[in-house]
Amino acid sequence: MSPSQKHDPAAYAAADLAHVWHHLVQHQALAGKGPMIVVEGEGLTLRDINGKEYLDATSGGVWCVNVGYGRERIARAVYEQMKAMPYYAATAGNIPYIEFAQKLLAHMPGLTRAYLSNSGSEANEKAYKMVRSLAHLSGNPAKKKILFRARDYHGTTLGALSSTGQAERKEWFGPLVPGFVEFPHACCYRCAFNKTYPGCDIDCARAVERIIEQEGPETVGGLIVEPITAGGGVIPPVAEYYTVLADICRRHGVLLIMDEVVCGMGRTGTMFGYQHYGVTPDIVTMAKGVASAYMPISVTATTEEVFKAFLNDPADKMAYFRDISTYGGCAAGCSAALENMAIIEEEKLLDNVNAMGDYLLAGLKELGDLPYVGDVRGKGLLCGIELVQDKAGKKPMAEGKVIQVVGEMAANAVLVGRTNRSLPGFNNIINIAPAYVVTGDNIDVILRTLRAALGKVLG
Ligand code: PMP
Repeated sequence: MSPSQKHDPAAYAAADLAHVWHHLVQHQALAGKGPMIVVEGEGLTLRDINGKEYLDATSGGVWCVNVGYGRERIARAVYEQMKAMPYYAATAGNIPYIEFAQKLLAHMPGLTRAYLSNSGSEANEKAYKMVRSLAHLSGNPAKKKILFRARDYHGTTLGALSSTGQAERKEWFGPLVPGFVEFPHACCYRCAFNKTYPGCDIDCARAVERIIEQEGPETVGGLIVEPITAGGGVIPPVAEYYTVLADICRRHGVLLIMDEVVCGMGRTGTMFGYQHYGVTPDIVTMAKGVASAYMPISVTATTEEVFKAFLNDPADKMAYFRDISTYGGCAAGCSAALENMAIIEEEKLLDNVNAMGDYLLAGLKELGDLPYVGDVRGKGLLCGIELVQDKAGKKPMAEGKVIQVVGEMAANAVLVGRTNRSLPGFNNIINIAPAYVVTGDNIDVILRTLRAALGKVLG
């Protein structure tokens, strides 16, 4: 008997509605029907409690389960490690942590250290705490501000949220943490400067220098970006963008932090998103793909230069990085991350991400003939289509309509994502990010179902 058969759907739905508080959900909308209750999966196939099968083109709802469902070898590795030694605080070393750090950093030329925690938000908080500590350690105690980009998301904790460029997510949670300063997004389709690439001279990146000068370079210690904005609308910046940005950071002594929480571990076709752009960040954070969400684990990776700054005064008992997360470096989590990386390498999954990513993007671009598909963007298996009410005016499609399209697809057994409570009026982008094992046939189904759902809802 499969797990989906042994549960009583009605009883679980009632208990869920009575006791579970879902994330990012208006519970009133669930009344009467309840949420989808997921039970088991294999590859891209997800089965709910009623036995209905979906083709999951979201990798677990929020671009996480990169190697697909049902990976027994990850489960086995975690089981073996738990039996041997589940956990000891990261004040000590453990074998999977050491092996994982070594293997991971081999993919990140220029970076040498891995500091582990449990979630993307936490990984970013660590980065901010490093920047702020470094201000003291380098004798520039005012150099603590951190710049962030409009439309980027960096997490749920108050520091990470304060550095998020999505107004709707911040509403009600203030007062926010001071010392975070926003700069313009890099979305050509809605250029913040009303310019057109390449004639724009990448003004969106150059604007950062003006902001640093306005704030005072002696007050700015770090700058965080998603290499490719994910939840804020799938926005790959143009090719030269990051060389311009990295140069500005270097000249002003500002540490460049790449939030690879979504892009990291191959989602965009290179191991890390920034590797498309020929730059080396000072700090890289990652989470979702680290163990494909089989275990909660995140990383803040740094250069040796960042690490060494914390060794600068051995007599000073306060000079080390005074931070701990209880579960950071958990041995069982690290064994999942190691196995996840082995799968990506052994199965040459990045080749598939590139081949299938190109195929998906080309298929989505064919939808550009529809009057309400304003823009199609993506890299690797991180793709999005922006829906508009009219192509000339680019007025965003009403969120209700986008919800209907996503719902219609789910009714037809294909799960896709959408921008959700990110920018006022801009919850109009549908995200497609299947697991790395996706096939051409899977993509044909996704595209066919999407075209049909768009036609049914939007005419
Ligand atoms: N950064 C990015 C780019 C993300 O997409 C997310 C999660 N959606 C986070 C950080 C925060 O990660 P977590 O939810 O694991 O704290």
